[in-house]
Amino acid sequence: MGFSPEYYERYAAVLNTALSKVAMYRPWKSLDPGPEYPVDVRFAAMPVLIKKDIRDNFPHGVLPSDMDIERGLASGEIQLAETSGTTDDRITNIWDQKWWDASERASWQLNSYMSEIATGDHHEAILVNPRNVGVISDDADLPMEKRRLSRFLYLNEKTDPTRWTSAYMDRMIQDLNIFQPVVLEANPSYLARLCRYIADKNRAVFQPGAIVFTYEYPTIHHYHQIRRIFSKVPLISSYGTTETGYVFMQCEKGKWHQNSEFCRVDFQPFLKEHGGPFLGRILVTILDNPWNYLVRFATGDIVRLEETGKCPCGRSSGLVLSSIEGRKVNLTLTCDGRLVTLFELDSIMGKLKDIDMYKLIQTDKNHYELYLVSRSTMLENMTEAAIMGLKKLYGQEADITVAYQSDIAPENSGKYLVSEALFPIDLDNYLDKQRI
Ligand SMILES: [Zn+2]
Repeated sequence: MGFSPEYYERYAAVLNTALSKVAMYRPWKSLDPGPEYPVDVRFAAMPVLIKKDIRDNFPHGVLPSDMDIERGLASGEIQLAETSGTTDDRITNIWDQKWWDASERASWQLNSYMSEIATGDHHEAILVNPRNVGVISDDADLPMEKRRLSRFLYLNEKTDPTRWTSAYMDRMIQDLNIFQPVVLEANPSYLARLCRYIADKNRAVFQPGAIVFTYEYPTIHHYHQIRRIFSKVPLISSYGTTETGYVFMQCEKGKWHQNSEFCRVDFQPFLKEHGGPFLGRILVTILDNPWNYLVRFATGDIVRLEETGKCPCGRSSGLVLSSIEGRKVNLTLTCDGRLVTLFELDSIMGKLKDIDMYKLIQTDKNHYELYLVSRSTMLENMTEAAIMGLKKLYGQEADITVAYQSDIAPENSGKYLVSEALFPIDLDNYLDKQRI
């Protein structure tokens, strides 16, 4: 990883403005060793920004004192955007469309397929929960023209995908065939659901130039189900948040690259016994957004650094990741207390065949509840294989119950929950403080 001095000037500029003009950072000021110190040292001395800080200080405390939010809203330069999620999670953000578009455009350069086909006015179909983006209409089905917005077409207006009917999914297939998107952007679980239907009914569907996964973690089962239908289309994962814009993009060689023009990323490794030093969490600082000063924002993403620091694609600006391992909310613990990421759990679950979906809930130290949606007729074998795999991961003393369901609905956020622990896991206890 190498950064030119120009990047460090930009980091310093963001930090200086945040500390001197943004009220939210006032308590951080006394921790700053001062501008004469190297930028990395100054960043390392700063605390971590969490959603609560933004919520408590919104709107005037999160803005530089010389920025006038009323003027920005009145002129249309910015809007207010509420993120979906649980009450604890939900915050209002200042949405700067121009900056967002520029951040997205820069991310396309990190993948050769995208940089070739994405022009900025290309057709894009979007298959996500309308709670995240798009138009909600749970009762009436909307005609195509009501679901068009500039170059985009929203394929889904229903908040609960478990209620998609055959006719509704036929409409999605028809929409794709008519609209012929260059890019299909999708929540992987939503696209996997459509692909299971397409496979069952043996339908033909238009093949876009690329499929970009957003909002959710794509599991091994999602990949298999989607690959069956879109056998030659590049499947690309894009990672970011409403607050931070586009942070990582998967390149054509399968690794993830930092969108360095628009963000600084600080990596904090876990302790060795919890997967460190290459596994850890990230803190994101966004660059060049006059309306948003986010410094060391904890996005909740757990990532694994590429050990060589390099990628065969040759891109070298910023962090290179070998995997994104899910989010903090997806972490579980083994019976003897070791952190388990969704990636690690999924590598076990992905070996089980004939599973449409799964969800794993850890209720306490050694109790795990696994929910499966499967069309297998050999459920006893399936149960046995699942328990054996999970005991290998969590410990022989793990108490695992397996229950079969006909379907699993997404959370209120619109995203599917694949794994979680029902007790708090404080990452501070797992970070390698010597290396931070
Ligand atoms: Zn690469």
